[in-house]
Amino acid sequence: MARRATIVGSGPNGLAAAVALARAGLHVRVLEASETVGGGIRTAELTLPGFHHDVGSAAHPAALTSAFFRSFGLRERIAWNVPDAAYAHPLDGGRAAIAWRDLDRTAEELGRDARAWRALIRPLARHLDGVLDLTGNQLLRMPRHPLTAARFVARVLQTGLGLPTLATEEAQALLAGVYAHANTALPSIPAAGSGLFLAAHAHVGDGWAYPRGGAQAIADVLADDLRAHGGEIETGVRVDSLRALDWGDPEGGDLLLLDASPRLLLTHPDLPARYARAIGRYRYGAAAAKVDFALDGPVPWTNPDVARTPTVHIGGARAEVEASENAVAAGRVSDRPYVLAVQPSVLDDSRAPAGGAVLWAYIHVPAGSTFDPTETVTRQVERFAPGFRDRILASRAMTAAQRPAFNPADVGGDILGGAFTLAQTVRRPVVSRAPWRTPVRGVYLASASTPPGPGVTGMPGWFAARQALLDHTGIPIELDDLFG
Ligand SMILES: Cc1cc2nc3c(=O)[nH]c(=O)nc-3n(C[C@H](O)[C@H](O)[C@H](O)COP(=O)(O)OP(=O)(O)OC[C@H]3O[C@@H](n4cnc5c(N)ncnc54)[C@H](O)[C@@H]3O)c2cc1C
Repeated sequence: MARRATIVGSGPNGLAAAVALARAGLHVRVLEASETVGGGIRTAELTLPGFHHDVGSAAHPAALTSAFFRSFGLRERIAWNVPDAAYAHPLDGGRAAIAWRDLDRTAEELGRDARAWRALIRPLARHLDGVLDLTGNQLLRMPRHPLTAARFVARVLQTGLGLPTLATEEAQALLAGVYAHANTALPSIPAAGSGLFLAAHAHVGDGWAYPRGGAQAIADVLADDLRAHGGEIETGVRVDSLRALDWGDPEGGDLLLLDASPRLLLTHPDLPARYARAIGRYRYGAAAAKVDFALDGPVPWTNPDVARTPTVHIGGARAEVEASENAVAAGRVSDRPYVLAVQPSVLDDSRAPAGGAVLWAYIHVPAGSTFDPTETVTRQVERFAPGFRDRILASRAMTAAQRPAFNPADVGGDILGGAFTLAQTVRRPVVSRAPWRTPVRGVYLASASTPPGPGVTGMPGWFAARQALLDHTGIPIELDDLFG
């Protein structure tokens, strides 16, 4: 009989692990708490019929460069919309800074900062494979591209320590907006690391591309592939304890992979105390409070380039963005917060009935916050798009406090699977060269709480599956063996 693999959770990492193990010949069963498949990559009619909102991720900078998704053929298997610009940052007075896919255009529009922007981003965009080699795995390794790694680290230190790099308000805001994705204090080294990774992606290949129809398309194509290889998905099954879960015989090579919070491991009766203490030390970070809008037309941005760009970083000048993020890090919600917004309707007419549009937005808030972001986000959008309020047909918010009931992996409403601290760049969730493996035979962690961390890459899931196969068959399996 084929060996069994049970996967708890059907986010991109659970599904990536499931696809890899099913293709390797195991009989795979996925258990998902929610009634629908996809975790952070779901799309649903959250507001009104015909308005399709991304429940979790909306922009997918790293999906097309992920080694797993490249082998899987994600680019070819679903339809993508490719914008001219990755992200826009409106400023008061109708001004804006835009990260065009064309790096030279981006730099030229930054005027006095043209050279500095090129010097900061170009070497990373040109050598993105080296950046991916460094950041796309656990960090306790010798990088395969040491020169690119050194360039990346130098820029992370320079900007993460707040050393003067850029002079203009536009360039500073453009950088602060992409650094603020990390939901941590600014400036900081972890935020610079994730921000430069995202910024480099803006200028390579299709840049920040968007799956037509929404993120659910990614979940569906993974689930289809899994089923085509004999796998099964059971929805509405929440695993609260590993004690009673029947996942087979570890001595016979059966596997259990958790696309879940590492805290679920604490329910395993055989977890060694030392490892349990290490998991107990793993910290979750600040949270997200999200609101989705159904609109009767596009957002009326003052700046026409912002109106064309799907991802918009709202929050004004760099000092304001930093103040907002630092308030959250200190346990408060800013009055004028940084808002991460995505308007997929500018590229994708399947997301709303004719003439309508959807807007996805969240702000950062302290863990467990009950703050409803609807009014604050509306005011921030109005600031750069007067008349926005009048376009709203309906909205639906989810507070940080509500989020864990919706996805148990989002502890306290943290949507990144763990705090972005310097220590946790190597401790995710434990310091190890194989952090996907647990001390319990056959049990592996496969979620964004393991390297390379959050984002829609499938890489934590693939690494967990690869490690599990290596440990239990002794055979090193690579992506080409599964998809070649
Ligand atoms: C609001 C929001 C916005 C985001 N925006 C972006 C973005 O624009 N771009 C980007 O790249 N990333 C974004 N992310 C992050 C991205 O979605 C996650 O990093 C990614 O989905 C993590 O994948 P995962 O498979 O590790 O976990 P998840 O996607 O969180 O999936 C985990 C799944 O496991 C299930 N589960 C967990 N515990 C249990 C249990 N005990 N029993 C049964 N089932 C369980 C959950 O229900 C869930 O379906 C966003 C996330 C959210 C929530």
